Amino acid sequence: MRIILATSNAGKLAEYKRLLSGVPNLELESLANPMHVVEDRDTFYENALKKARAVAAVTGVPSMADDSGLAVDALEGRPGVHSARYAGSDPTAAQNNEKLLQELSGVPGDERTARFRCTIVLVDGKGRELLVAEGACEGRIAASSRGTHGFGYDPLFIADGYRETMGELPPEEKNQISHRAKAAAKLVAGLRELQTR
Ligand code: IMP
Repeated sequence: MRIILATSNAGKLAEYKRLLSGVPNLELESLANPMHVVEDRDTFYENALKKARAVAAVTGVPSMADDSGLAVDALEGRPGVHSARYAGSDPTAAQNNEKLLQELSGVPGDERTARFRCTIVLVDGKGRELLVAEGACEGRIAASSRGTHGFGYDPLFIADGYRETMGELPPEEKNQISHRAKAAAKLVAGLRELQTR
């Protein structure tokens, strides 16, 4: 089975190749030419579906896309689908993290619960939905930024059962508990089932 991943980021392709390595006969490719799809929908699912369909419309080949972000309970789920652009139109991760800390100033530790969420959508070559897989990683927002690994909100996110932020964890460890890894594990199960049909 050939699937086009809606990204032109080589790192993301390599990560998904690793995460989906349990699927026999899967050829995962990324787009040869970068394609910009505006992520303007209200949910991770709708944004991922929009991206996957845009790629299928151009390639005619089964396509998959993901969307992810951070949902903070004390902020009614923000930054959510706006995670990448929380602090402005093209902010740095440090600016997003600074804004998050400001919004949570005065919120005590036990009320700083949050989760990273990821939704992956696979469509067929005609854009019809084949599989949806969701994963979440529960945790809380630290009082200050710590660590240099990872990206985005990792220096502020402490996964349940850990004392370190994700920015302090070795990447291999993060990749075992992450929202993306959990969503991908569900996608693997779905793909295996599709192959037996
Ligand atoms: P996208 O799904 O690649 O568009 O990611 C949206 C935004 O969510 C990123 O720019 C990050 O700010 C945030 N995000 C998603 N996944 C992670 C993660 O694993 N660690 C830290 N931040 C993340």
